[in-house]
Amino acid sequence: MARFGGGVHPAGCKQYSKDEAIGRLPDPKEVWVPLSQHIGAPAIPAVQAGERVLRGRLIGRAAEGLSANVFSPVAGTVKGIVTHITFAGKKAEHVLIENDFTDESVTLPPLAERTPGAVLARIAAAGIVGMGGAGFPTAAKLNVQGKADTLLVNAAECEPYITCDDRLLREHAEEILSGARLAQLACGAARVLIGVEKNKPEAMERLRPLCTDGVSLVPLRTRYPQGAEKQLIYSCTGRKVPEGKLPADAGVVVINAHTAYAIHAACERGEPCYERVMTVSGGAAERPANLWVKNGTLLREVADFCGAHEECGRIVAGGPMMGEAVFSLKICATKTTSALLFLSENEAEANKSSVCIGCGKCVQACPMGLSPTFIEEALLAKKYEEAKRYGASACIGCGCCSYVCPAKRYLAQSVKLAKKIIRERGI
Ligand code: SF4
Ligand code: SF4
Repeated sequence: MARFGGGVHPAGCKQYSKDEAIGRLPDPKEVWVPLSQHIGAPAIPAVQAGERVLRGRLIGRAAEGLSANVFSPVAGTVKGIVTHITFAGKKAEHVLIENDFTDESVTLPPLAERTPGAVLARIAAAGIVGMGGAGFPTAAKLNVQGKADTLLVNAAECEPYITCDDRLLREHAEEILSGARLAQLACGAARVLIGVEKNKPEAMERLRPLCTDGVSLVPLRTRYPQGAEKQLIYSCTGRKVPEGKLPADAGVVVINAHTAYAIHAACERGEPCYERVMTVSGGAAERPANLWVKNGTLLREVADFCGAHEECGRIVAGGPMMGEAVFSLKICATKTTSALLFLSENEAEANKSSVCIGCGKCVQACPMGLSPTFIEEALLAKKYEEAKRYGASACIGCGCCSYVCPAKRYLAQSVKLAKKIIRERGI
């Protein structure tokens, strides 16, 4: 197996939730469903205030170009199309629905034929997006007929604390395999590889007997960021994706394990994408869990159910390496909210920043071979051309540099900002 350079080995911290079977968060009284839960243009409202909707009803129609459909996760009455805060701290359109608790539902019609076109169309119709966190519309990703010989299922789950994919693999391995084969059909790949970090032995045991007929399990060393797309492709196939190119240019399409599950649900059960499994964890969560959480659920509901509070060291959506700080529990869960971490003061203390001591650890740790400390220096001096020369545009946002820095510099954030400025200014 090929080994990517750099990377780190953070404490896994998965013990809080890895043995918690997937449960279900009780349905909320109301949901605030964001019309933008994906990369691309926000969906266009497909309902009006006062309308009754069933669970599974289309409430946001994908816009032209890159976009995704949005569905109601409950049965109830639309109270309006309202603006509400998002993880990015901006205001965006949400569909506010009052739950009537009848749970009446509607599904997509049975899939008439098993052709690449029909499966792609179903994935698009069901509003499926990359559920590992990226939110890229999956039908667009899989639409590479003839370019990819390998469909790679990303089940590395290398971020500390997060266990939702591990639990899905242990409890729903057959469905994930089924979704992977459907995705294989859709993109025309000759083989399927499933990459799993070796710290998930139970998941691998569940998958192993199912991996036949062109499907192979690839056990991976436990090293962050094993689940980053380029690093995963290199580990599983030995192929490198050149800078500025897509995985398909290396003959590979990557989908997350939860996305494969969603493809199965949409094709075999007619269920569109309106909920997901979320890990709730961290030293300040009294009852860590893996829960089905409906899109549009206020994070406060999740916190209350798991005995967690705003008054903790830090709240993070996603993993501690790449996740986003949560500034309010009024924000709503989306298709990509894989985890909600309530870190204790001790866990969060690790982030007090001081001056760089020039140790070079960030350079050694960067899996893309960049010099994060020099990029940060260039950014602070507003020398963006210099930041580009140091390779800021190739950053994958993995957070390894921040993790190893003894001075606790916010390097990943700095490199991300430099990358954004370089892109916006066309440098
Ligand atoms: S510079 Fe980017 S790619 Fe390199 S370690 Fe930092 S976040 Fe990861
Ligand atoms: S790891 Fe931190 S202290 Fe060391 S060179 Fe990089 S920025 Fe400076």
